[in-house]
Amino acid sequence: MTDRVVTRFAPSPTGFLHIGGARTALFNWLYARRMGGQMLLRIEDTDRERSTDAAVQAIIEGLDWLGLKADGEPISQFARAARHREIAEELVAAGKAYYCYATPAELDEMREKAKAEKRPPRYDGRWRDRDPSEALAGVKPVIRIKAPLDGETVVRDKVQGDVRFPNKDLDDFILLRSDGTPTYMHAVVVDDHDMGVTHIIRGDDHLTNAGRQTLIYQAMGWDVPVMAHIPLIHGADGAKLSKRHGALGVDAYRGMGYLPKALLNYLVRLGWSHGDDEVMSIEDMISWFDIVDINKGAARFDFAKLDAINGHWIRGSSDEELVETLMTERAYLPNGDILRQMDDAMVRHRLGAAMAGLKERAKTLVELTESTAYLFAQRPLPLDEKAAEILAKDGRDILRGLLPALEGVESWDVASLETVIKAHAEAAGLKLGKVAQPLRAALTGKSTSPGVYDVLAVLGRDESLARLKDQTAA
Ligand code: GLU
Repeated sequence: MTDRVVTRFAPSPTGFLHIGGARTALFNWLYARRMGGQMLLRIEDTDRERSTDAAVQAIIEGLDWLGLKADGEPISQFARAARHREIAEELVAAGKAYYCYATPAELDEMREKAKAEKRPPRYDGRWRDRDPSEALAGVKPVIRIKAPLDGETVVRDKVQGDVRFPNKDLDDFILLRSDGTPTYMHAVVVDDHDMGVTHIIRGDDHLTNAGRQTLIYQAMGWDVPVMAHIPLIHGADGAKLSKRHGALGVDAYRGMGYLPKALLNYLVRLGWSHGDDEVMSIEDMISWFDIVDINKGAARFDFAKLDAINGHWIRGSSDEELVETLMTERAYLPNGDILRQMDDAMVRHRLGAAMAGLKERAKTLVELTESTAYLFAQRPLPLDEKAAEILAKDGRDILRGLLPALEGVESWDVASLETVIKAHAEAAGLKLGKVAQPLRAALTGKSTSPGVYDVLAVLGRDESLARLKDQTAA
């Protein structure tokens, strides 16, 4: 019989949901979904100075936006302090931990001595077997684990393989501080145990902690969860991913116009693979994800690849879905105001009519929004430099020649417009491009746009003719 899989995502709410954290959450979520289990969310808010409610909110919103909802209510680590204390005291009662009354001066001296002897600073175990009655009056004790003095502790990591820690390097570390608060090392173990966590998937910056945490599990006689420490994400230059590599909170990626499904598709490939598959839906990921396929090497974050994947998912989305996405995301996009020029029904209508042509070219929602600008621009349209040039050359004359033919179009649709414009170009002895260029410039204010017949059809007869006349009258 196998236990039901329980994974967890355990962010510290000291900042926003970092892109590396999002990948950790994704791996935990996928594994839980794949195994029919649960992913729990634990907010590691024991650092009262640095933890903020705003950060907790940002983490939850970030997970929601990505669609990585945790099962059950988030668990606050801080709220469980009494339980952490209880277990530390239980370990003392069982002889697996002890009160240490070393004074700050003694600890300083230990550090200095280790330094002079070029040894790593280690607590020397002086209270391991001493009776509390020997303590100096007024010293508040900490609780330290009674770590084994020799042998080794092995972390059987599913990604890194067996990782061995000589026990002499894992000194009698602190479980409970003198003010009664737990250390991070201790709180994580007690929480993971109480939450029934069966699989710990987290960044490999926690691998050395895993050695110490294993000692706590063993001291309590608890099963050690399956561990999988995943390589951190590095920047495109190979250096550890840092703020210098760009804006890195999930909210920043939202602002850059990435679709959640594209971001997840990109993130899942950072450190995990399924053959050569690059493009995968959430359903694909759930059915394919397994811990054994997580790579050992660090993954590099590459915006060009993310853009390519995002473009793929934009093209693959239905027009209706993209219209609704833009309506929601406009609040988060730097150029979202473009989508507020008219009442919402009108914006939806124009977006819907134009979307098939627009979505083929955009790699991000920011680009997609930018490409809709012509739909909502107020007359007379501002012209960009190239559009102004096209019209200044002989563009306006060409438009003057074309206008009567367009005014005569009976049914204002792509097919009729195409027939009329082609016939006019031929009769005037002009290449089609010569006619299309100034048309596009006058209709959109730009030199590039979706197909010009589509632009005419989407704008409608009145708006199209008015925009053309703004130019021919100039
Ligand atoms: N709170 C830790 C972090 O934000 C994670 C601890 C864990 O996953 O065990 O890095």
